[in-house]
Amino acid sequence: MKKIQMVDVVSQYKRYSKRIDTAIKDVILSGQYIQGEKVRDFEKKLANYLNVNHVISCANGTDALQISLMSLELKPGDEVLVPTFTFISTVEVICLLGLVPVFLDIDPNTFLLDPTIIEQSISNKTKAIIPVHLFGQSCNMCAIMQIAKKHNLFIVEDAAQSLGSKFKGSELEHFSSGTLGDIGTTSFYPSKNLGCVGDGGAIFTNDHTLADKIRLLVNHGQRKKYYHEAIGVNSRLDALQAAILSIKLNYLTDFNKIRFQCALRYNSHLSSLNWIKTPEQSPHSSHIFHQYSILLSEKIDRGQLQKHLAKNGIPTMIYYPIPIHQQVAYKKYKVKDYPVADKVSRHILSLPMHTELDDNQIVFICNTIKKFIH
Ligand SMILES: *Cc1c(COP(=O)(O)O)cnc(C)c1O
Repeated sequence: MKKIQMVDVVSQYKRYSKRIDTAIKDVILSGQYIQGEKVRDFEKKLANYLNVNHVISCANGTDALQISLMSLELKPGDEVLVPTFTFISTVEVICLLGLVPVFLDIDPNTFLLDPTIIEQSISNKTKAIIPVHLFGQSCNMCAIMQIAKKHNLFIVEDAAQSLGSKFKGSELEHFSSGTLGDIGTTSFYPSKNLGCVGDGGAIFTNDHTLADKIRLLVNHGQRKKYYHEAIGVNSRLDALQAAILSIKLNYLTDFNKIRFQCALRYNSHLSSLNWIKTPEQSPHSSHIFHQYSILLSEKIDRGQLQKHLAKNGIPTMIYYPIPIHQQVAYKKYKVKDYPVADKVSRHILSLPMHTELDDNQIVFICNTIKKFIH
């Protein structure tokens, strides 16, 4: 059996190495390494894939979030609603811009924002909400959009983990994750469902004015070189990354399907165990399983289970061990308790999930898990 890895980016590369190697050489020989045709081609291709008017690439998913918030021209002290159970980037950028994060608790079954408790946290300073489409499925955007409309909030969707997943339900059916809010963002960090060989990110929107503003901001606030209309940043996707991403984008739908099949296999072996809750699918979204995260019952010692699996050559990860409201740097923004996020962070465990996992590996992982309790 092949060595089991949490993510296996090298094996995936090997399947497309001929085309990727040629593309890399093309870029190097073109002499155009920053911006240029390859980057524009990729942006167009991704816009087409997502069915969205504008895609603006940038240096990484964190920048994508920061630049999106910058484009909304919020004032210091304005409040932004954000789940406390997310990767740090989502909250970090709010604070860096002098805005105030207002944490929201999550749904215990999907680990996504719970729309029923959002309104309690809205004040007259609340200006935006960042739904995070965690682990590969989208939040209940129908409910979130209604709330946002009622309270006049901007929506910035963090689709770093959900690129290619589709919304479900009534008129939203078939819209791509990240394309319903005012702005959507994603990351091409190597382990993401569409990963490059370094850092990369993108911002998408259907709004022409916002797109124009964002394009300005990513490039030092200039439309014309050395003429600065706005205070911007330097956040660019390399031509090399764009060329590689353009090739891999052809396979994103397949990648996502393979992950889904792997998840179904895991489910079939694990769902009968009474001490494991397999991932629950939201009725509002398809699932592309960026992570396959199980919830262990309270009596299980998660650390011991991880050790047992590691001894058998099976890596696992905890996404995320500490919710943001408990992080040293962010505690000061905690205004209430977030019991669901606290509990989930204590009992969640992510198993290996990537496009190169095979059946034997999944059977071995599941059998080894079963042997933990005799
Ligand atoms: C990966 C990730 C980001 C940040 O992306 P980078 O490219 O690493 O900056 C932001 N939000 C979420 C939910 C992520 O998973």
